Amino acid sequence: LPSWWQTWWFRALALLTVAVLLLLVDRRRAQVVRRRTALLEQLVATRTQDLEAANQALKDLSLTDTLTRLHNRRYLLEVMPEYVAMAERGSSVNALLQSTRLTPCSDLTLIMVDIDKFKSINDTHGHAAGDAVLQQVAQILRECTRESDTVVRWGGEEFAVIARQVCRAELTHLPERIRARFAAHEFDLGNGQTLKRSCSLGFAPYPFFAAAPQHIGWEQVLGLADQCLYAAKRGGRNAWVGLLPSEGAAPESVSDRLAGDLDGLVSEGLLEVHTSLPQGSTLSWQV
Ligand code: GH3
Ligand code: MG
Ligand code: MG
Repeated sequence: LPSWWQTWWFRALALLTVAVLLLLVDRRRAQVVRRRTALLEQLVATRTQDLEAANQALKDLSLTDTLTRLHNRRYLLEVMPEYVAMAERGSSVNALLQSTRLTPCSDLTLIMVDIDKFKSINDTHGHAAGDAVLQQVAQILRECTRESDTVVRWGGEEFAVIARQVCRAELTHLPERIRARFAAHEFDLGNGQTLKRSCSLGFAPYPFFAAAPQHIGWEQVLGLADQCLYAAKRGGRNAWVGLLPSEGAAPESVSDRLAGDLDGLVSEGLLEVHTSLPQGSTLSWQV
């Protein structure tokens, strides 16, 4: 008789045992690999999320002014195409609804704001006092505007406000609110002293021609608002000036002359001037 380890059943049993062991080892290895892969995937997902958050923070930073925490000029360039598209859509809907008098307010108002005699604050009280005033100006502009409006630091002590969903008839409300709120504010200079300052504003609506929205680009309208701002400065400051096309003025006859002949357009009645300056003030459009 063969020894027990030489029997066929022992060999079969041994073979089976080895096969089962190999299977178990393989399964275990697969389990370990699966767990490691899951861990790696989780790590990659977390890193991707961190990277996305860091990218977003970097983007926000590049669109924000560090002193005032307002958005900057680059932000405006990013959002304006969408605002403009919505205003133009609103304008075409209004054209359809005109006969029913149900026209919703869909205009943008492009407003430029500049602090009056700001340089003298720096000169008299120092740059830190000037910075404190700029921060309070940002706060005033935030408080005067709606959540859906955009306030940007255009540069230095000049700000741009894009008000949305404004009715043409109410175009002057926001500039007046900002002017009045500004003039009433006691600016805290951070050195125990306070002072008062006014601002000058210029504005124009977009679309400039309600019936021909694409005739004048928003950049050109903002340029027009800037010219209005300087007309307000020359008119005596602490004031707003706005320009609108007169009813019936043909876009073709106005647009080419906007850049260099505001005087002519106003005196010929093709442009309507709105201003808080005393009645009878003659506005100077010459730079
Ligand atoms: P106007 O009424 O004609 O607007 O006179 P202004 O003095 O306000 O205007 P001007 O353009 O002569 O002076 C602007 C000053 O703003 C000059 C510049 O040094 C100052 N300024 C620009 N950016 C900053 C800033 O970030 N902080 C401070 N403190 N001052 C600034
Ligand atoms: Mg100024
Ligand atoms: Mg200025």
